[in-house]
Amino acid sequence: MECKVAVISGDGIGPEIVREAKKVMDAVAEKYGHSIIYTDVLMGGASIDVHGIPLTDQAVADCQAADAVLMGSIGGNTSTSPWYQLPADRRPEAGLLKLRKSLCLFANLRPASLYQELKKACPLKDEVIKDGFDLMIMRELTGGLYFGERKTVEENGVWKAYDTLTYDENEIRRIAKRGFEIAKKRRKKVTSVDKANVLDSSRLWRKVVEEVAKEYPDVVLEHMLVDNCAMQLVKDPGQFDVILTENMFGDILSDEASMITGSIGMLPSASLNDTKFGLYEPSGGSAPDIAGQNIANPIATILSAAMMFRFSFDLDQEADAIERAVQQVLTEGYRTGDILSEGCKQVSTSQMGDLIAERI
Ligand code: NAD
Repeated sequence: MECKVAVISGDGIGPEIVREAKKVMDAVAEKYGHSIIYTDVLMGGASIDVHGIPLTDQAVADCQAADAVLMGSIGGNTSTSPWYQLPADRRPEAGLLKLRKSLCLFANLRPASLYQELKKACPLKDEVIKDGFDLMIMRELTGGLYFGERKTVEENGVWKAYDTLTYDENEIRRIAKRGFEIAKKRRKKVTSVDKANVLDSSRLWRKVVEEVAKEYPDVVLEHMLVDNCAMQLVKDPGQFDVILTENMFGDILSDEASMITGSIGMLPSASLNDTKFGLYEPSGGSAPDIAGQNIANPIATILSAAMMFRFSFDLDQEADAIERAVQQVLTEGYRTGDILSEGCKQVSTSQMGDLIAERI
């Protein structure tokens, strides 16, 4: 198979971790007889330095012409980098928002699973972790509170601010279908998270999710209020398979879920539209504090590449091979600094990439 991949290395540790993911993708392509054609695309600070803006129309077109996008991370130190002296719409993050919108990436997937080898890094007690957990947060990414109408006004000398949380049934239906499709490939359970005891948007969410559920009789659906879900994630994370939720709830819950896995450097993510196209990136940021030192953990980016094989190319065997290679390297005791524990062998970013690529 020929796969066209647009590559946004980005800023900070971005180029270092993307280099290792490409190494592993090339090893997969060689073993399974695929050819991957990469196109480099500038975004974020790297694009500001060259073009004065965080994302050009040509960069968007290059991404649209690809089958999938592999991204490192963008942005710099928000207190010291000159990129943050620019108006908000010219800062690095504006590029990512524009790209998500241009590519209609409405579904964000963030798996959070605990490797037995990294149990010590998990802040939860053993009796809570039990046999571990393996959950997927499916977050709506282009609607809700972050995209609704907002304004700040002064009324009778008092400042007031409004944000609006709007969803229409089509936006809910398309993300719900995605959630059930993913659950079908996993343990066949969807927990739909809302605040239906208070919000109208949540009551519509629940109604539409129930309609969609009828098309997936083999998947179990349960509803959970968002405040309860926040508690259950630290009380019994093993109960969850797919958590399906709207934009802001997903933003908060996915950070909570990433925390209980122990390291941000281990967590991949995918943002999908209604075709096979997707953007794959680690959940963490550009980590300017450790950039250029060859010490960042590349595993989240490598696992994001695995998600690309699975969701954009439908190559499950290749995705499994990457995930197995990561597991094997951890079992053998190799660790980057962020996940290092006693008795393990510390390796650099590039050594970790080599070790995983060798085990494909
Ligand atoms: P961050 O995730 O970059 O860093 C938080 C902490 O985690 C730091 O101590 C960092 O060293 C560590 N860390 C992150 N990734 C790591 C890895 N792969 N290996 C080892 N350690 C890792 O968050 P931040 O410091 O709040 O943000 C830094 C910049 O990243 C900001 O400009 C922010 O806007 C940007 N950011 C970008 C994205 C994205 O590109 N999607 C996401 C989040 C933050």
